[in-house]
Amino acid sequence: MHILVSNDDGIFASGIKALTEAVIPLADKVTVIAPSQNQSASGHKRTLNDPMRIRKVSDFVDGVEAYAVTGSPADCTAVAMLGFIKDPIDLVVSGINRGPNVAQDVTYSGTVAVALEALIFGLPAIAFSLDDRSSKADYQPSIPVARTVTETVIREGLPKQTLLNVNIPAGNEIKGYKTVKQGVRTYQDQLIERHDPHGVPYYWVGGAMPAGEVEKEGTDLWAVHNGYVSLTPIHLDLTAHDAIDNIAKWDINT
Ligand code: MN
Repeated sequence: MHILVSNDDGIFASGIKALTEAVIPLADKVTVIAPSQNQSASGHKRTLNDPMRIRKVSDFVDGVEAYAVTGSPADCTAVAMLGFIKDPIDLVVSGINRGPNVAQDVTYSGTVAVALEALIFGLPAIAFSLDDRSSKADYQPSIPVARTVTETVIREGLPKQTLLNVNIPAGNEIKGYKTVKQGVRTYQDQLIERHDPHGVPYYWVGGAMPAGEVEKEGTDLWAVHNGYVSLTPIHLDLTAHDAIDNIAKWDINT
């Protein structure tokens, strides 16, 4: 079992070391390949028009080869699968992200994009996020959780073209695991206009942290809010299957 570890917070984030430690006992070999800088909210971006540099990182975790890529999270999976990593890879794990990736967050998430890219290469994949955005977030309590989930995925397998998106509550008190669907987020972004020293406007997107329907039972938001680890299977196939029949009846061909 050769496990590839990546993330979107960058190779120097605390969460990726925690995830590496979580999977070491489950694998014959663990390789880490992650962005050289924070690439959060970069989605499923790929680098096509620029070169990338890949640098070996020394003293990452004992016995683990680690590389930093000047590209996106999905680039990391892709360069590994396209031959940069020579030994065949059996499983890709991503995270542990600083902050949750629930509801519509998964469409922004580089953590999830690492796993989506793995699906494209036909590999099973798990994305892990911690429900704590603090720079001082403690990833230690998440290590046994990530290990248990990964061990279970190795044993049970995942459906084809399906990743497991895992969100872990902050703190030491975890009530258990809930298999749930994506909830609904409410983003509170605001466009803030300022002016540079030449009077030319520039823009920030700021505002309060996103909220969401935490009371809606059976969702990732609800599970994490109530102290459970959320497990959400996510398809690579984005087709809205329920809408196909109705759209096929549109009077569009005449
Ligand atoms: Mn991130």
